[in-house]
Amino acid sequence: MKLCRFQVPHIDAGKLGRESVETRLDVRSGIIADDKVIEVAGDLLHPRERTGKTFAVDAVQFLAPVVPTKIVCVGRNYAEHAKELGNETPKSPLIFLKPPSSVIAPGEPIVMPSISQRVDFEGELGVVIGRRCSKLADDADVAPFVLGYTCLNDVTARDIQKADVQFTRGKGFDTFCPFGPVIETELQAGGVQVETFVNGVRKQSGHTSEMMFSVDAILRFISRVMTLEPGDVIATGTPAGVGPLAAGDVVEVSVSGIGTLRNPVIAEADA
Ligand code: MG
Repeated sequence: MKLCRFQVPHIDAGKLGRESVETRLDVRSGIIADDKVIEVAGDLLHPRERTGKTFAVDAVQFLAPVVPTKIVCVGRNYAEHAKELGNETPKSPLIFLKPPSSVIAPGEPIVMPSISQRVDFEGELGVVIGRRCSKLADDADVAPFVLGYTCLNDVTARDIQKADVQFTRGKGFDTFCPFGPVIETELQAGGVQVETFVNGVRKQSGHTSEMMFSVDAILRFISRVMTLEPGDVIATGTPAGVGPLAAGDVVEVSVSGIGTLRNPVIAEADA
């Protein structure tokens, strides 16, 4: 099942005539079936009953499907990517955080900070937590804690990441965490293709079977450090092929079985 959060522009005619017409946007939740969005009540983390309203997919504006309290990322989880940046492969998952303020919706622009000369895309499989979890055992079944999977771009100011000892600044700029457009609840996380395209040209193509640490291992590992809350997002690492973005580019992260996350790139001066 594909879950989404979206807005539908609708016009409220004001009392003063056409000049006072307002465009109002309500945040809604939905299930995608064929080319329709079936609206459901409540948010995606809670029981979902249909409202009876449906919308054409191309008539809605998708939002990031959840509002996370944190985004936990795994670095160097594909050996070929660790190698391309001249890094050793880690013995246990290397984790870091992106702030919730870095989240943007599908279609929203990634803003290149003027203080960075090198902003990279990193296409990744994202895991969305559905149930609070903490201190999972080595053999714990993680499935009950996962709501589903999404496409995520772990946008990175590579020069700043390299200059700083840790990742907060290079990974944490506003707009550096697009994810969506949907959460797929049925995915076999170890069997999907992760691809990134810039202006339609394929730059990354990896398979989650190449991950050094599986989704299960990552979840258990993180849960022993911090409690994962419903709506939290885990970025599972990027395959080889990362590269720079430039203002005017359109970057797409596609994960088989989920869909495509598309964002334009703009300069800070144009934001
Ligand atoms: Mg990454």
